[in-house]
Amino acid sequence: MTGIGILGANGRMGRAIADAAAGAGASIAGGVDRGGGQDALAALAAASDVLVDFTAPEALAAHLAAAVDAGTPIVIGTTGLTPAHHQAIDTAAAVIPIVQTANTSIGINLLGGLVEQAARRLGQDWDIEIVEMHHRHKLDAPSGTALLLGASANKGRGAPSTTELNRFDRSGKREEGGVYYASLRGGSVTGDHLVVFAGEGERIELGHRAESRAIFARGAVEAAIWLHHQQPGRYTMQDVLGL
Ligand code: NAD
Repeated sequence: MTGIGILGANGRMGRAIADAAAGAGASIAGGVDRGGGQDALAALAAASDVLVDFTAPEALAAHLAAAVDAGTPIVIGTTGLTPAHHQAIDTAAAVIPIVQTANTSIGINLLGGLVEQAARRLGQDWDIEIVEMHHRHKLDAPSGTALLLGASANKGRGAPSTTELNRFDRSGKREEGGVYYASLRGGSVTGDHLVVFAGEGERIELGHRAESRAIFARGAVEAAIWLHHQQPGRYTMQDVLGL
């Protein structure tokens, strides 16, 4: 049985992961949250088979350091990460196994493959727009999941990097080939994503609606159980789910 240490234990996802663990054949080794202190963090890392982090980007450096010091694998679900955060994850992944993903649900990870396929088959004259809506408390925009789907579109279009075609400035004429984003915030929406391929005279819409945080929590627990016995390295949900 995999003992999970929850980083951000008092948060919406932290609580959902605690609820999901028992039914999925994992146990909770403990949890810490903001203000818990270095000693509590180090103790949790040592007592856990795998750490699961759904907190905030500012917390990542301390969480990675604790995981590396204890040699404990870590699942990172926090979004809003910068290139510097991704570099720190790459460095730590030389020593411990890490899953980093903006979305742990099977639906979104499957959708990523469909978006990649559609982007590959359709020409540059099909405009790609990604629309997302989340609850009023969400801090980052566009969502990490929107960027994940954008990365799939970039890949499908054969861009040199997964961000090359991203465009965030809506002013002026639409750039051909660009992948554009729109973010809506309000109410209690768990997470809606729609990828629109708009051609001359027709549109394809590929979308996903998360109805409950439980889908993310189940995926995070599945990722933790999978990661428990992996070699050091950086992995995605595609690896976990075998997609
Ligand atoms: P939340 O605000 O409900 O919970 C975040 C928790 O992290 C809080 O308890 C907070 O006290 C704690 N925290 C904040 N800053 C901290 C710090 N510096 N050190 C330690 N703890 C800190 O938010 P949430 O809805 O649970 O989402 C958390 C993160 O997970 C967000 O980045 C969100 O976008 C992301 N998320 C990812 C997925 C996914 O599938 N990967 C799904 C949902 C949410």
